Amino acid sequence: MSEETINTLGEFGIINRIAEKFENKNESTIKGIGDDAAVIDCGEKYQLISTDCLMESVHFDLHYVPLKHLGYKAVAVNISDIAAMNGTPKQITVNLGISPRFTLEAIDELYNGIKLACEAFNVDLIGGDTSSSPSGLFISITAIGEVDKEKVSYRNGAKENDIICTTGDLGGAYIGLNILEREKQVFLENDKIQPQLDDHAYSVGRQLKPEARMDVIYDLKDAGVVPTSMIDISDGLASELFHITSQSNCGATLYEDKIPVSDKVYKTAVDVFKIDPITCMMNGGEDYELLFTVKQEDYDKIKNHPDISVIGHIQPKENGVSLITKAGNVVPIEAQGWDHINKK
Ligand SMILES: [Mg+2]
Repeated sequence: MSEETINTLGEFGIINRIAEKFENKNESTIKGIGDDAAVIDCGEKYQLISTDCLMESVHFDLHYVPLKHLGYKAVAVNISDIAAMNGTPKQITVNLGISPRFTLEAIDELYNGIKLACEAFNVDLIGGDTSSSPSGLFISITAIGEVDKEKVSYRNGAKENDIICTTGDLGGAYIGLNILEREKQVFLENDKIQPQLDDHAYSVGRQLKPEARMDVIYDLKDAGVVPTSMIDISDGLASELFHITSQSNCGATLYEDKIPVSDKVYKTAVDVFKIDPITCMMNGGEDYELLFTVKQEDYDKIKNHPDISVIGHIQPKENGVSLITKAGNVVPIEAQGWDHINKK
């Protein structure tokens, strides 16, 4: 009997195990498993396809996730994968598994959120499937996008001396999740106590209503910058950086004092949860910001962007992947991404 189980393999181990069994046969399949989206040659452009499923009590908890937000987030996380290929989203399909405990009004709420996201990201809902589910809610969304062939950004294109950038700020969604979990426990113990979320609106918003950073993709396009590599930050900065360095066959150095975090999130991590904020930024998930690399010569084109931070640079492989702390120590980074399979 094999010692390996789904739990010991983890999400990425399972993906590799599946990928090994399949070989691409069609010339139009440019990129299969292993990037943020699949890439298909459809003539003048590349088509991008990405799919994600959200499972109740694994990926979301309806004790504190409003259905409208869930619908929005389910779309946004897929659009984020199209963004991570430097692409533009065009269409989505939505598959739902619904248990009998949901009312028609509840499903309407979910679709209100999906509709809001379709408007925000300018995509068309073009189909899907709906099934009954014995228990719980299941949502699977596929996003379809496109990109000019010479502008596609893979995970494997980072080169020595490239600048490493991230958008927005990191760690907020993880702190938001911790706040929501804490308030849920309080509520379960005494349902007369209302949740105290007002002080934490920013981080809770980061968890419940993430945005795909299409705005930055459009800005990069206007600036004439094509990232040499790119990935979206769904599992935490450390894990995503490892996808880029391992696929690009390189090392990297990050600077702790350059990694963006909001003041509020920083304070909550330290004061409320007594955790080092860098842990939230490196290993917390679901910020859905973009991590990308650009050539040195493109630095001037991005340096004044208010929502792009330069956080490090690409190194030769033998230098490894490390973080220079605020105190000036060099700490090897480990890829402790969020493993959704093992999370609960
Ligand atoms: Mg991704």
